[in-house]
Amino acid sequence: MTDYNGKSVFKGIAIGKITVYKRTSVSVKSYTVSDRYEELERFYCAKETAASQLDELYTLAINEVGGEDAAIFMIHMMMMEDFSFLSSIEHLISDGGFNAEYAVSVTGQSFFDMFQSMDDPYMQARSADVKDITTRLLDILGGIKEQKISSDEPAIVIADELSPSETVRLASGNIIAFATAGGSASSHTAILARSMKMPSVVGAPIEITPDLNGKTAVIDGYDGKIYIDPDERFIALMLRKQADEERKFALLLEFRGKENITADGRKIDIFANAGRMADIDDALENDAGGIGLFRSEFIYLSRDNFPTENDLFEVYKAAAEKMRGKEVVIRALDVGADRRMEYYGLPNERNPALGCRGIRYLLNRPDIFKAQLRAIYRAAAFGQVSVLYPMVSTVVDAGRIRKINDETVGELKAEGIPIGDVRQGILIETPSAVIISDLLARDADFLSIGTNDLAQYTMVMDRENSLMNDFFDPINISLFRMIKMVIDNAHRYKKRAAVCGEMAADLSLTKILVAMGIDQLSVVPSEILPLRKEVCGINIGEIGDETLQQLWT
Ligand code: PEP
Ligand code: MG
Repeated sequence: MTDYNGKSVFKGIAIGKITVYKRTSVSVKSYTVSDRYEELERFYCAKETAASQLDELYTLAINEVGGEDAAIFMIHMMMMEDFSFLSSIEHLISDGGFNAEYAVSVTGQSFFDMFQSMDDPYMQARSADVKDITTRLLDILGGIKEQKISSDEPAIVIADELSPSETVRLASGNIIAFATAGGSASSHTAILARSMKMPSVVGAPIEITPDLNGKTAVIDGYDGKIYIDPDERFIALMLRKQADEERKFALLLEFRGKENITADGRKIDIFANAGRMADIDDALENDAGGIGLFRSEFIYLSRDNFPTENDLFEVYKAAAEKMRGKEVVIRALDVGADRRMEYYGLPNERNPALGCRGIRYLLNRPDIFKAQLRAIYRAAAFGQVSVLYPMVSTVVDAGRIRKINDETVGELKAEGIPIGDVRQGILIETPSAVIISDLLARDADFLSIGTNDLAQYTMVMDRENSLMNDFFDPINISLFRMIKMVIDNAHRYKKRAAVCGEMAADLSLTKILVAMGIDQLSVVPSEILPLRKEVCGINIGEIGDETLQQLWT
């Protein structure tokens, strides 16, 4: 099996036999014509034929992709009628005495180059449209019939490039997917492919040779990959992936835009966990209510010194803006234990998991802490940004955090830097924090339970140690009692209680978490809609107190 990476155009999986498509290209010769008016007339005739072809394509496209995207062919028509495009061709024929093919080809090339050299990727992608119009006119002038791509059985097209007009005809030619060596994800070809819901990948470095014809290929539009000659096992894997994605897509259709409300009317916030910027896009696509845990460590990785306040600000601002007013909970840097970079200057500890990690590291390094807080406060001027402090275990920790916070806000104000309100959250992930969660809730704005660490510190089991798998009990009563305690303590002070550890995504536990009164669950973006479905099916009244009482008996 050979595989190639390209850019995904439409997310979907297709498996089929390859049909190689190579456009017949006309080689354009330049010569001078004896009758310039006759040549001009020949060009006008070609333009008229092109216009009626575009008209026909427009009608076809309305059926295939709807009016909005069909407008692409109206744009082609307008481009062909563009004053400077036309006058360049006319000038070459009537003043230069050149043949129409040469005039069209030279003009097309210079417009192509002009669009290609533009900085804006959208404008750059318009070069493909110029090429499409130019090829159409040249084909008509050369007497070449419009080429149609079709196959007797459902097939995958592999081509150097596809024009928008070739693309719109694919579905009626029994083509289920395509991959091209050239092309861009913002071209009209790509726009059409998306509307046609055709799995497709562009910009893949495939050598287009006739021997590819008839070979089996898999187009994985989720990951922008093309596999040629896959074995049976791989195909089975891909079919499973496809079924899985289709299930998610069906959920998406059914549950996107719906509220997370139990059958008896309790609203639960379902937020997303994010560990990189791309997760924010996934969160939006999956309809997250906000970002409940933005693991900010990724900004500190793959560099050899601390990011500056501005580096951090740019990322946080981008996240806040992308979420358009929905809350983004940024976790303060959580380093130490297994999360180490050379430049952090972490001490050598006998037992780092019980040492200088999370908030303890930040309290030891107020310079690093303040830089991050400043960036967070500044980003809050562009959206709804909150902060979450990891590994807090004492009331003293909370007091020291408050002091640094107050100083930071005072400094920003004194400097006249615009800031926004930042709600303060405590990540409850040590048994100590659970026991004092009433005191923490009193002074914070919200509590979020980090069950990954809370489980490891409660059960004294390293979360990375596979030897512990047999001992680890995910439905550990001690953990549930702790969660209940944190929720009750938060509610005592009318504060929100969330779970943002992996446990929040375990659908077998949703019922009990909801029955215990959890306000928010924060999970990986792909789990949002399955979780919404689960929440909508819950009737808290039916769960009954008994289930909860079991935790105490
Ligand atoms: C947790 O510990 O549950 C948590 C959310 O944080 P992380 O997994 O990043 O340690
Ligand atoms: Mg943690």
